[in-house]
Amino acid sequence: MSTEQELREEICEIGQKVWQRGYVAANDGNISARMEDGNILCTPTGISKGSLTPDMICKLALDGTILSENPPYKTSSEVKVHLHLYRAEPKVMAVVHAHPIYGTAYAIGGVELVNKRMPENVLAMPVIPVAPYATPSSEELAENIEPYVHDYSVCLMEMHGALSWGPSLLAAYQGMERLEYTAKLTYLCDQMGFKDRELDDAEVKKLIGMRPQYGL
Ligand SMILES: [Zn+2]
Repeated sequence: MSTEQELREEICEIGQKVWQRGYVAANDGNISARMEDGNILCTPTGISKGSLTPDMICKLALDGTILSENPPYKTSSEVKVHLHLYRAEPKVMAVVHAHPIYGTAYAIGGVELVNKRMPENVLAMPVIPVAPYATPSSEELAENIEPYVHDYSVCLMEMHGALSWGPSLLAAYQGMERLEYTAKLTYLCDQMGFKDRELDDAEVKKLIGMRPQYGL
């Protein structure tokens, strides 16, 4: 298990990846991780995910009580959704929220992504569901996302963006990477006229059967 300092550093590293891959604009997005003692580290509001340093990271209890903030850095109000996921599923150790452009376009369309085009995607993420829209930072948004936490590792957030979670920060980040890759691949195949090119149902079933038990 990582120390608090190691987790703070890792949140900054994941922030760099999220920003460099263009998964967020300006100061958008947020990242959090659960520590061994059950408390949560999360990114502050109003800072680019590409400019984070470990001292900026905020610390909260699972009930949302703020335990430490390093002024002027303040806890993001959007972390409410993350806290819901941590409370709902003890195996969730990290959460990433971003607005990757292709994934967000499908989120605006309210389109669930069903992977039938590429073995790795079928294995890793057969379906990317869409959680119904609610105002950012609201209790309602957290409640809309919570039903997906046990059986999925990512979801699109209708009219908003994407969320990923997992047993580590790297796993949660990679979920976001896979989600955006899938969304982009879906868009390109449809645009290039390959809309009907999919693995047949028998092959999809075979691949899903090969799927290791969901990794959380
Ligand atoms: Zn957002």
